[in-house]
Amino acid sequence: MKEQVLHLLKKQQSEFVSGELICKNLGVSRTAVWKHIQALRAEGYEIVSQPRAGYRLAGVPDRLYPQEILSGLKTEFMGRRIFYFAQAPSTNVLARELALAGAPDGALVVAEEQTGGRGRLGRGWFSPAGKGIWCSLILYPPVNPAAAPPLTMLTAVAVARAVRLVAGLAPGIKWPNDLLLEGKKICGILTEMSAEMERINYLIIGTGINVNIENFPGEIANAATSLKACAGRTVSRVELLQAYLQEMEQLYRIWIKEGFAPVLKLWKDLCVTLQRPVRVSSLKESIEGWAEDVDEEGNLVLRLADGTVRHITAGEVSLRPF
Ligand code: ATP
Repeated sequence: MKEQVLHLLKKQQSEFVSGELICKNLGVSRTAVWKHIQALRAEGYEIVSQPRAGYRLAGVPDRLYPQEILSGLKTEFMGRRIFYFAQAPSTNVLARELALAGAPDGALVVAEEQTGGRGRLGRGWFSPAGKGIWCSLILYPPVNPAAAPPLTMLTAVAVARAVRLVAGLAPGIKWPNDLLLEGKKICGILTEMSAEMERINYLIIGTGINVNIENFPGEIANAATSLKACAGRTVSRVELLQAYLQEMEQLYRIWIKEGFAPVLKLWKDLCVTLQRPVRVSSLKESIEGWAEDVDEEGNLVLRLADGTVRHITAGEVSLRPF
């Protein structure tokens, strides 16, 4: 009901909507309308009320509220069910619990702030309140678990395309899962999966996008940047998240129907760490070589100085161009 009141106010844009019209449209009393208006105000919506004229929407808060994301979202299942948190330890952790409780395919978990945001290999992810998109998608892809790893690369393509559409910036992809602008990280992706031999129970794709962050803590200040810093303007988080969900649905469908090849082609066009010297480090070793290509499963094809070729799986390594 609250959402319907908001919808009516939005439809009139900056004009007044009479209390009577809202009552008639929704079939509720004046007191009920007043209560919903108060609830919306408590969420940060600026609503002017004027005797006889009614209510007017004067401002929408910079929040990733489900009603904002859903309004105008052009997807069929991606992000159609939204779990919103003002604060979360980690959206991936909550997504896991929600998946186990039966959340639908494409459900989105989004938080304004993560207090224990995670990167790969147990690293932390800086996720300050209201400044980024910290979210996780819950998916149940009907594929063999062995076919799932490319989904991380597919997600990188979706984010890159969304950033281009909404912020007018062109991020490059660093194999396998980071998006860079001006050589610094603007997005990290963390995919986690629960599977049996032949089937995936659920898959969670966490993305952290640095949208309007102005200052990064010392230890990552040199390696991280935000869309705002690169575009020189505040970027709408709601629009970016909608674009991400739309791109994601489109690419996901292509992947399910046609396999990874068409998505990999798009990924390669965006990749900035191929055809150059790189260092690949894992806990065990650090090897240098020429990043020749990515094979059809998304592994890095690394040519070493002695001419031998290694196919490196994304799982446990970090890559640095040098
Ligand atoms: P790398 O390629 O940098 O070795 P990775 O791809 O293995 O890292 P991720 O899981 O994507 O790692 O990100 C975790 C790392 O990113 C952290 O160790 C930290 O250095 C850095 N980091 C943390 N928060 C942010 C942020 N908001 N923006 C950019 N980088 C961040």
